[in-house]
Amino acid sequence: MKKEIRKVLVVNAGSSSLKYMLFDMKGEQMLCKGLVERIGIPGSRLVYQKAGGEKMPKEIKAPNHAEALKAVVAAVSDPVNGVIKSLKEIDAIGHRILHGAEVFKDSAVMDAKNLAKCEKLVKFGPLHMPPNLGGVKACRKIFPGVPNVGVFDTAFHQTMPDCAALYAIAPEFYRKMGIRKYGFHGTSHKFVTLAAAKWLKKPLKKVNLVTCHLGNGSSMAAVKNGEVIDTTMGLTPLAGLVMGTRCGDIDAAAVLAIMKEKKLSPDEMDTLLNKKSGFQALTGCEGGDCRDMCAKADKGDIASITALEMFGHRCALYVGGYNTLIGGADAIVMTGGIGENSSEGRAQIVKRLGALGIKLDKAANARLHGTLGVISTKDSKIPVVVIPTNEELMIARDTVRVLKG
Ligand code: ADP
Repeated sequence: MKKEIRKVLVVNAGSSSLKYMLFDMKGEQMLCKGLVERIGIPGSRLVYQKAGGEKMPKEIKAPNHAEALKAVVAAVSDPVNGVIKSLKEIDAIGHRILHGAEVFKDSAVMDAKNLAKCEKLVKFGPLHMPPNLGGVKACRKIFPGVPNVGVFDTAFHQTMPDCAALYAIAPEFYRKMGIRKYGFHGTSHKFVTLAAAKWLKKPLKKVNLVTCHLGNGSSMAAVKNGEVIDTTMGLTPLAGLVMGTRCGDIDAAAVLAIMKEKKLSPDEMDTLLNKKSGFQALTGCEGGDCRDMCAKADKGDIASITALEMFGHRCALYVGGYNTLIGGADAIVMTGGIGENSSEGRAQIVKRLGALGIKLDKAANARLHGTLGVISTKDSKIPVVVIPTNEELMIARDTVRVLKG
């Protein structure tokens, strides 16, 4: 008989940080969470937080991801403050992995064969994939015999038809280089899709949604009969909505013109578009933080007011387009830091949706922060519902599902 999978560790390994969360899947209870910062950089630090407890920071030695994970294991199983007695209690580990390309259309066990397949996808995420896979390899060593599951940011979008996924360029670029739209934030879009189906009391296969993950990075998905048929991010997370530091959609000719005029290399242009654009470039707010931008807009800063309007304009454009593509939405779902918390950010979108018969419930919108609720009026033709996302729980659920076969 297969061992019951109770305790699942979720790992999100980035280049110099590693976030973790431990779940008891009986009742889907989060036991503890935290992160290791400055991996491979002097001054590494572990933050450990028990459910309902204070954050406990600690200086540690973490020259690499394996040492960072060992520190996590020590904290989690600490006799005084830990939540498990030994690492033997951990039944499975779920990993966030950026890119599954067309190889991984679903989460998968990270055995040697699948790890080798992932290594071939590093070209799609040269910054994120090596640390993501490094986390898997470290866990395979530290937790011998414990299964690892990879949960891909791209997987939920792999149901997109060719007409949405392909770019209108010579097909050889797709065939030889894999240049197409993949989409990201898939784990979040999937989590809120499942939650919305439950909220709507409809079977997943009958649910039509426009899901909006609005955070530092933002993306939308058109979900028809429970499956993604289009999404705003593309080959990389640069495309689509106006984001914190990314420009989103832009005429490729504008990119070329800037490169020529400023004599920028492809890498320099990549940095400009991904890290020095978006709200940050438009408003001067560090990291393009939405709270700071809203505060400036409140004080009458024209650049911030315009940036918020650009955000709402582009979001509304995609909501309208996606509503058409899915044949009418059962709900518009908002999530992510902005979607869950920013009344101003949400209002900028909803006030532009009048043609869909949607009206903003101003009081509900002002009230709702980080909890599930409706921000459209009762007589709106389509409800706009805020659903807090939980990507870590989605990874833990997928880990159990995949391992149960
Ligand atoms: P990431 O994409 O890094 O996961 P998040 O989903 O955490 O980002 O979203 C971060 C964004 O959410 C920031 O722009 C932040 O200003 C915004 N945000 C978070 N809380 C609030 C709030 N209470 N009001 C307005 N904006 C908020």
